[in-house]
Amino acid sequence: MGRSNFHIFPTMKTGLFFGSFNPVHTGHLIIANFMATRSDLKEVWMVVSPHNPLKPKSTLANDYDRLHLVRLAIDDNPLLKASDIEFSLPKPSYTIDTLTYLSEKYPGREFVLIMGSDNIATLHKWKNYEMILEKYAIYVYRRPDFVKGDLPDLPNVHYFDAPLLDISATYIRTCIKDRLSVRYLVPDKVYEYLEGSTMYRK
Ligand code: ATP
Repeated sequence: MGRSNFHIFPTMKTGLFFGSFNPVHTGHLIIANFMATRSDLKEVWMVVSPHNPLKPKSTLANDYDRLHLVRLAIDDNPLLKASDIEFSLPKPSYTIDTLTYLSEKYPGREFVLIMGSDNIATLHKWKNYEMILEKYAIYVYRRPDFVKGDLPDLPNVHYFDAPLLDISATYIRTCIKDRLSVRYLVPDKVYEYLEGSTMYRK
């Protein structure tokens, strides 16, 4: 078999949106879908962070329950995927290690980090952040209180204005604990699942 059978395929740009997703909410989904449909990304993977053994578990739900909720949330969207890749990597997980692992495992993909402007402002504290900036593109969506002037102008960092929903997982958990409705703050399937479970009730 000659070399003529060797084809070079274009790489598939894949966004990685990391989070504890405790639980996943509509704010997360707006960002994931925005990046999957308004940038050159072909897919967005929502990477569920496992419990960090160095941190107290406190209000963090079980890893697989949080993963299940992400799966329920994006089940009908072919552009979004849930990833449990960090569950089987050494803990605590560092983004550079996950990126390196994924890049080796999926040579046909080019991974891009998705993060809010609050995270890019503190990127210099991350393990091997220079390597992250050198090897990977970062797509940043602007979050309130971070005007462009505060943000680094770097070749691999691209800024996006995405619509933002002013909610957090902490707010959702508080509502559930106080027996207040979280309907529409989370996707319908997540809402229905939470209604029938005891997650975040105490
Ligand atoms: P918590 O309230 O428990 O800290 P969270 O809602 O901020 O949770 P994370 O799982 O930490 O959720 O979020 C994953 C990523 O999504 C983080 O980078 C976070 O900054 C971002 N994010 C969280 N809420 C929103 C939102 N409403 N709009 C856009 N991005 C968000």
